[in-house]
Amino acid sequence: MTQTPSFDKPKVELHVHLDGSFKPETILYYGRKRGIPLPANTAEELKNIIGMDKPLTLPCFLAKFNYYMPVIAGCREAIKRVAYEFVEMKAKEGVAYVEVRYSPHLLANDKVEPIPWNQAKGDISPDEVVHLVNQGLQEGERDFKVKVRSILCCMRHEPNWSPEVVELCKKYRHQTVVGIDLAGDETIVGSSLFSGHLKAYEEAVKNGIHRTVHAGEVGSAEVVQEAVDRLHTERVGHGYHTVEDEALYKRLLERNMHFEVCPWSSYLTGAWNPNTEHAVVRFKRDKANYSLNTDDPLIFKSTLETDYKMTKEKMGFTEEEFKRLNINAAKSSFLPEGEKKELLNLLYKAYGIPPAAERQP
Ligand SMILES: [Zn+2]
Repeated sequence: MTQTPSFDKPKVELHVHLDGSFKPETILYYGRKRGIPLPANTAEELKNIIGMDKPLTLPCFLAKFNYYMPVIAGCREAIKRVAYEFVEMKAKEGVAYVEVRYSPHLLANDKVEPIPWNQAKGDISPDEVVHLVNQGLQEGERDFKVKVRSILCCMRHEPNWSPEVVELCKKYRHQTVVGIDLAGDETIVGSSLFSGHLKAYEEAVKNGIHRTVHAGEVGSAEVVQEAVDRLHTERVGHGYHTVEDEALYKRLLERNMHFEVCPWSSYLTGAWNPNTEHAVVRFKRDKANYSLNTDDPLIFKSTLETDYKMTKEKMGFTEEEFKRLNINAAKSSFLPEGEKKELLNLLYKAYGIPPAAERQP
């Protein structure tokens, strides 16, 4: 059990979904408490049904959420608890700073159209979901000494939700929320340019809300280009297929664009074809700006160690590269400058690198 981790130093994680990180025990607990049937009776069984070991198609992957989202959504106590437990989980993984993302609408059962997961109408709005998650995260931050911020997700297939998402980012920007994301099925044709999303991202730019977009995971380089040029994204979620358009890739390298890479996820979702070189190997070679992330650890039955181990053992990643990519993750985080500097100093110290100020002549 107590194996030495592949990178035994503080880490920064920028791409992980709260609703892909619940504990099977907690899902089981609320399934029983709320009388919602689940396909298993033990945490271990449930983990194997929700989780995956081999690549699956995107629809099969997305179907897994149907099992357990109705158990947590629409329950105040459950929503707060999964946020709190998320922080505990990240503390165990040696994470110093994490940005966790979720769609407030997908956990609500009121003031959301359509009501997700076939739930009956209740009284928990997307606004209250954000409030509850914030409470859980802040209590977790205090108890587990991990710095946590959150990102609110728009969903590609629900552009009507996006204007409210950006308003919630504005409302809660000093209570953990640091950015906006666009998640969901990026193969929905033209979905980057749905007017709800475009308007939300414009509003985010206007108000200094930080922006990331899932793009180039299973979608083409064109989706990445739209994310950059039309949605003014500051980071790219996954972005593997960017390398298929050399001109775009070169432009993003010059801009020092940050790629939120999720290696184990990309294997299991089929976003990466294992018979080809993984884009992250190219990123490493080109000294690109990227991070390593878990994405949905519940479904991929993983921890951050899974991603570090995979890149270390299968792709030859070194301790030096792990330090470099974590420093880049901290620099590309959505923290305000002062807090970013604090985080960087913490990493420099742990990595045995003189702080930035001292390195200057
Ligand atoms: Zn993701």
